[in-house]
Amino acid sequence: MTWPCGHPIGDLLLQQVAALLSTCVREEDTVARLGGDEFVVLLEQLADTAFATDVARKILQALTQTHELEGHSLVVGGSIGISTYPADGENATTLLRNADTAMYRSKDDGRNTFRYYSAELTRSARERLTLEAELRRAIERQELVLHFQPQVDVASRRIIGAEALVRWDHPHSGLISPLRFIHLAEETGLILPLGEWVLHSACEQFQTWQAQGLPPFTLAVNLSPRQFQQRDLVRQVRAILDACAMPPHLLELEITEGAIMGRGENARDILIALKSLGLKLAIDDFGTGYSSLAYLRRFPINVLKIDQSFMHDIPHDTGAMEIAATIVAMARNLHMDVLAEGVESEEQLAFLQMHGCDYAQGYLLSRPLAAEAFAELLRRGDAL
Ligand code: C2E
Ligand code: MG
Ligand code: MG
Repeated sequence: MTWPCGHPIGDLLLQQVAALLSTCVREEDTVARLGGDEFVVLLEQLADTAFATDVARKILQALTQTHELEGHSLVVGGSIGISTYPADGENATTLLRNADTAMYRSKDDGRNTFRYYSAELTRSARERLTLEAELRRAIERQELVLHFQPQVDVASRRIIGAEALVRWDHPHSGLISPLRFIHLAEETGLILPLGEWVLHSACEQFQTWQAQGLPPFTLAVNLSPRQFQQRDLVRQVRAILDACAMPPHLLELEITEGAIMGRGENARDILIALKSLGLKLAIDDFGTGYSSLAYLRRFPINVLKIDQSFMHDIPHDTGAMEIAATIVAMARNLHMDVLAEGVESEEQLAFLQMHGCDYAQGYLLSRPLAAEAFAELLRRGDAL
């Protein structure tokens, strides 16, 4: 509950809320204040847990009405967490702790609501912790692998580059998609060592290929929003370029709109510093965020990567076609190259060619491949 604390009116309101809670429960139930703005309601001898739902609803309804206090009109709200005996705990301490967890869940879900503590909740929290601990070890145990997805020139269909995409080769679960762990890595900060590993491994692999005499191509590597905020990012990238003797002009860093827009000059400074290393910059998943054209024009971006959601709807959805064509035209005017992601059909590729899109990437041309398979494809040098 929230109200103007540190004010005598706060005390009055607490009393009023306490009285109000008492009217929402039965004679034999208990209402207590734990401290601060936290109350506990103990409902005994429940025939059915649904009764707790009824009481929770009643309490929220009562709380969210306007309270008149000494000429002030106050609106309070509440978040309720419910634990039940014996499913959620055999003793008072466990029951209270679990009710507390459920209350935080209901706060997260938007206040003025209630949540039950359930085994489900504990399980998902535990799974997350396990995943996090395992992911932490995955880097040390070298369980991460890179796959490479070819990027082709739309007109000739020849490979001009590749995007490095990370996978987790889990000892029990097999190859795990980045969609399952990048978000968690981002939240926990693990993305920093992970991202550094990706960049280093990709450049190292590139160097090996060059030593084997494979033709040069542009190597694209994803940079997460958190990496982008990292203080010593520029120094880190430079150190990796040096360590792997990576030609800077063949490295392209992909950054999403969200990571740079809204950060104003700061983002521009970082982009300029990265660019001064001699590498290329691409905006990934373009069209899904909110890019300000004014910023875009002032940022040193080389490539716009049209988000795959637009390709998905081509040629069925005229809206998607208009957007894709507009992005291509815009990139032209801003002197940027443009690459379409998620190209799965010949119609889509023909559409892109008609509108003058430079490059394409997608299952039609090739799925992401293990390093050896990609090298084989590159060695053959065929059009895809
Ligand atoms: P992204 O950077 O936009 O990468 C493109 C994703 O689209 C890849 O998914 C790729 O396999 C998939 N894709 C390519 N062609 C097609 C197609 O024709 N149809 C469809 N439906 N999908 C296609 P993936 O490898 O699962 O990666 C998903 C996302 O995970 C990436 O999206 C990127 O945001 C993130 N990610 C992957 N590797 C890294 C990494 O090393 N670092 C960071 N920060 N993020 C990464
Ligand atoms: Mg990408
Ligand atoms: Mg993308």
